[in-house]
Amino acid sequence: MNHPASYEGRRVVVIGLARSGVSVAKVFHQFGAEVVVNDMKSRDLCPEADELTALGISVICGYHPDDLVTEETALLVKNPGIPYSSPPIMRAEELGVEIITEVEAAYWLSPAPIIGITGSNGKTTTTTWIGSILDAAGLKPIVAGNIGRPLCEAALEAAPDQWIVAELSSFQLKGTSAFRPHIALLLNIAETHLDYHGDMDDYVNSKVKLFDNQSEDDIAIINWDDPECRAISEFLAAEVIPFSLYEKLDSGIYIDPPFVRDEGITEDEADTDSRQIVFKQADGVETIILPVSELGIPGVHNAANALAAIAASIGAGVALEQLLAPLREFNAVEHRLEYVREVDGVKYYNDSKATNAVATTIAVRSFASPIILLAGGLDRGSDYMELEPLFRDKLKALVTFGQTSEKLSLVAEKAGLARVEIVEPNEDAESVLRQAVKQAAAIAEPGDIVLLSPACASWDMFASYEQRGRIFKDSAHTL
Ligand code: ADP
Repeated sequence: MNHPASYEGRRVVVIGLARSGVSVAKVFHQFGAEVVVNDMKSRDLCPEADELTALGISVICGYHPDDLVTEETALLVKNPGIPYSSPPIMRAEELGVEIITEVEAAYWLSPAPIIGITGSNGKTTTTTWIGSILDAAGLKPIVAGNIGRPLCEAALEAAPDQWIVAELSSFQLKGTSAFRPHIALLLNIAETHLDYHGDMDDYVNSKVKLFDNQSEDDIAIINWDDPECRAISEFLAAEVIPFSLYEKLDSGIYIDPPFVRDEGITEDEADTDSRQIVFKQADGVETIILPVSELGIPGVHNAANALAAIAASIGAGVALEQLLAPLREFNAVEHRLEYVREVDGVKYYNDSKATNAVATTIAVRSFASPIILLAGGLDRGSDYMELEPLFRDKLKALVTFGQTSEKLSLVAEKAGLARVEIVEPNEDAESVLRQAVKQAAAIAEPGDIVLLSPACASWDMFASYEQRGRIFKDSAHTL
């Protein structure tokens, strides 16, 4: 492993600006390397370049120069999204130049131990939850990584008695070599990102890199319900702490009585009161932590995220009694089943991040109460018929808007929903969503839930799912 200081006076090429590129370029510059930053975007689309050029770092925008990666290049740091088939990366491979992502450099730099969280789904929620538990316990965590704040920035700031809590994508992990989190979490593995990784093996191998450098002094937290994750655990050097929704374990974190598995995460929330989260130590000592129903956020998928967060927090030294308040008080990460408010006995939830049918299914199944669903958005060609059973079983009404409104209303009619309302399109997208909230409020009765979980991307009407979610929240607050 190299400290960034070992690159003093040597050429370090950073490809891809963005926040992580800026952060890593500054680190190597600070330690005396000759840093060159390159981005394919034109200069006017790279406002971050100004900060770097002001520091005397050379920035080349708009193309990859042929002589970017030379024999004198000591290191190449690539943005995680840039494919390995990109010409400068291939050139670096040819010349035997070490290629890393920013998280590897952050590891070289960090005096603090790292908790690394990866998986296909639930990373941001679990990372944020661990951050809030460690914070409540006074452990001064710094939350960073794929979640927004570059890991190098966190590593520069961290002291040895802190924890860096890092959300890590498979793209970031693929570019690591010495990276060694003291606590590593693998939440689940679904078939995503195959376009980048080429095949499932490459995707899985990238995730497994999280554990590659761990030793028996480290901790690996593994989803025991996911066969792919369980298989990986056999090859790990670290102490494995499994977690499970569906099985009482010999040791680890689980639910008692366990949920019953039914095609993934599809449980009825009605009986979460009787289900306890249990921690069982290797010596057989069992401690009940709290009932699932007391968790701050609903949904069986979030119970899984809680189990993982509990395991990591215990591994980091949080006492069991310190877990309770942050488990109960956690509010969702913005736009992910986020509780907004209660008006006239009706609860409003913002799940604007749900941009596909699977995410909407998970959200709708998280509630036992009748749901008035607000959905619709960009039309990518799906007919949404897979939502019919969900609509039939779980919805009281659908209020739909955007390009997919006709399609979704057809699904709802086929499912036999008594109330299906299409909000008329209008140049003013914000007013359409506000109207949808009003219509949903008019249908809702005390005890119901109004849920924005659109099953579609937002770009037919809004700049982002964040904008869509904020307009929804504002509409609910002004009812
Ligand atoms: P990520 O950061 O991995 O994208 P998030 O925490 O942002 O994950 O959650 C995004 C969406 O993924 C949620 O709105 C929910 O639909 C789904 N999700 C969250 N946690 C899980 C989980 N443990 N298993 C399956 N799906 C999940």
